[in-house]
Amino acid sequence: MKTERKRPLFPVLACLSVLLAAAPQDDPRVEIVNLRRFTHTNFTRIVLDIGKLREYIPGELQAPGRIYVDVLQAKLNPILQGQSYPVEAEYISQVRISQKTSSTVRVVVDVEFPRILSYRVYHLFDPFRLVIDIYPRETNAPPSPTPPGKAPPPADKTQPPVKREVTPQDPSLVGTSMARQLGLGVRTVVIDPGHGGVDPGASGKSGLQEKTVNLDIALALRKLLKEKAGLDAILTRESDVDVPLENRTVIANQKRADLFVSIHSNAHRDRKRGGVETFFLNISPDPSVIALAASENATSSKRIGDMKTVLQKIVQNSKILESRDLAELIQKNLVKALSSDLPAIKNLGVKGGPFWVLIGGEMPSVLVEVSHLSNAKEEAKLKTKKYRELAAQGIYNGIMEYIRSLGKG
Ligand SMILES: [Zn+2]
Repeated sequence: MKTERKRPLFPVLACLSVLLAAAPQDDPRVEIVNLRRFTHTNFTRIVLDIGKLREYIPGELQAPGRIYVDVLQAKLNPILQGQSYPVEAEYISQVRISQKTSSTVRVVVDVEFPRILSYRVYHLFDPFRLVIDIYPRETNAPPSPTPPGKAPPPADKTQPPVKREVTPQDPSLVGTSMARQLGLGVRTVVIDPGHGGVDPGASGKSGLQEKTVNLDIALALRKLLKEKAGLDAILTRESDVDVPLENRTVIANQKRADLFVSIHSNAHRDRKRGGVETFFLNISPDPSVIALAASENATSSKRIGDMKTVLQKIVQNSKILESRDLAELIQKNLVKALSSDLPAIKNLGVKGGPFWVLIGGEMPSVLVEVSHLSNAKEEAKLKTKKYRELAAQGIYNGIMEYIRSLGKG
């Protein structure tokens, strides 16, 4: 965390503009040309033909009632832009579709929530398409993928392995991630031991340096992932060398990693403060997170404020939901493991933060602050092989629980 060396901001910004400008030549967006609606006696189905596998994020708004889905890496055929379509159901007023950002298409269903029993957002394959089923309250039929009475439209005869069910009563499920929906496996994990070389990171009172602790934990974690789980585990550095922040996720992308875990040890002005916290990339309004990110980024807090709009664009396309899931499971398991050696260790929770090292990762990416070097008790523990191995074990358990959760749907 705390580092005396200030990295110049310019190369980071240059790198960002390359990221942002990289699109046009080979357009990765899929073009959406068709939206279909079917109103049956006891449900309404809206189908968005996408064609290629794409990540999507469902959500809802109350008053006015809206169910919406954002399809990422997509562009709308101009014929559909800004169009709205009536639906023959008194609980739905219309369906609208628009290009929300240059790479996100949004479908909005204007609904009257009090008249709706439930709804589901899911996908079907061959060709890939997104389906929104809405069940009105009036019907006695249970919300099932093939409601009795009417057959589903021919194109959708092969019913989905239904992997998600989102209802207005269960908003916690709205954020279920794509990786989880698809049950995608994990083969390669990139572990990033924070700092290194001329950048020591934080230092404890005894002189213990963050870069050394981080590398040790990362090496132990690699061993566990390889030997116990048979996964590919790759380090961004294997020794005390310099690796620029912006290169670390580039390494993960090149290796086609499924997960990216950056390992750090914390430092805080208040030496009494201690505990474990885990971050995923997001815009954070929390000043203490901004301060931590500033020191991890080796830049100023003000600069982070200046970059907010740039960050906003990047964050929109990042795997935030997946990263948050991974962060929560690592945090939970890490606290549990460390508390066997330091029972008073605090769980400071999972937070979003603007960490450069997480930018540009094409996979769920998190940054773990294992414990505080600035806290005398925790520094003493971080010196021991036992505590470092427990940290590796805790992070390992979190990664494994995340992988297991992907298969559950
Ligand atoms: Zn650090």
